Amino acid sequence: MKTFLILFLSAVASSAAAQTVSSPDGRLCVTIRTGATTTYSVTFDGQTVINPSAVGLIANYANLADNLTHVKADVDTVRNSYDMNRTKASHSDYVATRLRCSMQNPDGWPIDIVFQLSDNNIAMRYEIAKRKDKETGSIRVMEEKTAFSFADGTTAFVCPQSDPMIGWKRTKPSYEEEYNYDAPLDTKSRYGQGWTFPCLFRNGSNWILVSETGVDSRYCASHLSDFTANTSSIAFPMPEENNGNGTSEPAFALPGNTPWRTLTIGDNLAPIAQTTIMYDVVEPRYETEHDYKFGRGTWSWILWQDNSICYEDQVKYIDLAAAMGYEYVLVDDWWDVQIGRKENPVRGHDIEDVIRYAKSKGVDVFLWYSSSGYWNDIVQGPINCMDNSIVRKREMRWMQKMGVKGIKVDFFGGDKQETMRLYEEILSDADDAGLMVIFHGCTLPRGWERMYPNYVGSEAVLASENLYFDPRFCEKEAENTCTHPFIRNAVGAMEFGGCFMNRHMSRDNKRRHERITTDLFELATTVLFQNPIQNFALAPNNLTDAPAVCMDYLRNVPTTWDETRLLGGYPGKNVAMARRHGNQWYIAVVNAADEPFQFTLDTKLLGIDPASLQMYSGGNEPAVTSPKVKKGKITVKVSKNDGIVFLTK
Ligand code: CA
Repeated sequence: MKTFLILFLSAVASSAAAQTVSSPDGRLCVTIRTGATTTYSVTFDGQTVINPSAVGLIANYANLADNLTHVKADVDTVRNSYDMNRTKASHSDYVATRLRCSMQNPDGWPIDIVFQLSDNNIAMRYEIAKRKDKETGSIRVMEEKTAFSFADGTTAFVCPQSDPMIGWKRTKPSYEEEYNYDAPLDTKSRYGQGWTFPCLFRNGSNWILVSETGVDSRYCASHLSDFTANTSSIAFPMPEENNGNGTSEPAFALPGNTPWRTLTIGDNLAPIAQTTIMYDVVEPRYETEHDYKFGRGTWSWILWQDNSICYEDQVKYIDLAAAMGYEYVLVDDWWDVQIGRKENPVRGHDIEDVIRYAKSKGVDVFLWYSSSGYWNDIVQGPINCMDNSIVRKREMRWMQKMGVKGIKVDFFGGDKQETMRLYEEILSDADDAGLMVIFHGCTLPRGWERMYPNYVGSEAVLASENLYFDPRFCEKEAENTCTHPFIRNAVGAMEFGGCFMNRHMSRDNKRRHERITTDLFELATTVLFQNPIQNFALAPNNLTDAPAVCMDYLRNVPTTWDETRLLGGYPGKNVAMARRHGNQWYIAVVNAADEPFQFTLDTKLLGIDPASLQMYSGGNEPAVTSPKVKKGKITVKVSKNDGIVFLTK
């Protein structure tokens, strides 16, 4: 392992200094320079990725960005090996070079700027000490100067931040916007509010994914501002978010730290799709005494919508889950009114009857809740249960007594610290009651799979519901599918709720608009999209009207993975990805581009015995075959909106 520490002292001013550190493999380098502005810059294989960009922040009590001077620099190595049970990988061995630049402003106020460089990844954060000679015991961060100034020619694959308090029942922002692809950096964002994490950038053959992790109740979630002259900065939530309640500027006690901002850099997309940096630099926030089991689920709402949240239809979806061997059924919004609680049964049944019926069929239950709240106009019930700790704990005790296994909480108020605190409190209370948690209408998860033992996944994407709502999203389904493995789903679980076997987006499978993608494409999404519980968009009629090959595949597909390998593709165009569950590999190949996607699977690369390979192909007339493999390789051509899945026996 090579670690460089070079210290230059300027001939004219002892405050101007530069430190360079590199990743264990030596390919990634960060240089910090002090002066009127303190900056960092990044090179990969000697090529500039990030030009000198500002670091530092403005505290309520001091300017911790300008005219900082060096107190000392420490370099050491960080090692962290750990296991995970619900992400793209089951094990990570994190090794990083750490540079800690201890700085102070002209009045002696301290700020440490910490960089950790592992191969292909940079994590950076600020650590603020408490001064021994001052009373100041907390910080309010008024502004972060943290900037990202990209090299010329860089283009962006990014999603705009929404205006606050717009959209359905004034619930935005909720990370449900459309992507720009390969866009010049000076492209203005749709709302003028910048771009939500994660943001992917390309410069020549180099790829850079920018995100953040370790965000909890002690900070807000951030995003990137619009670019000016190739430069973007960390931006805080808008004051109007959360119906104006709570501040945009985060605060924490001293000593304390900001979340980690991360850059994942490679000369191809594999380090991006395979990164575990969001888990490598965070720690579990609490231990659990519960044994959470992940798996597959059915949910009536996606195709049968609000009217299906009644006892009779939930029985049909429980029966579907049982027929598929699935672990869960998700009962969505309005159950408190349309199925009823014990106090207000509807047509002689209530929600406890649904839970009991599910149990009798070997199926466990997730219940939907609104996060509301004084931050939006949601009337879909149950409301006002998750926003208040007294009601929330009472509700969760009831669920624990009934044997409910999880909740889906929807429609959060944005990215302010106040909302981050709500996420954390829901997770913590839910763990006390042995409940897993899915978030919808929500922010991006930021390391939460590792931080919270009962966290399952978040929507934070234009998810399957949009395919139901609008044929335009069906037209774009393939493009979006070929985007998420490189961006949104690269940094955290994605509760997409897809894999439709219906041809039409309706209950009778005849009316309304058609799905554009093939059945095989839909099967491939079960591998491409990673979430430890997958609620598939199946309907009871699929037991008889969908191809048996597909339904058999869906009975057996796992939802947790030991290893993920990106094998090919380009954001928005196509993707080939392999995931391993135990000894079994699943390899999914899909295409969104007009021209066919030619892909060669090299079985030696994954250590696969060619004789063990099965191929699911045939578009809407799916078949499973033993493919001919020559010298360990097989080449396939995948048409637009189609997919192929290989798996080992
Ligand atoms: Ca949504």
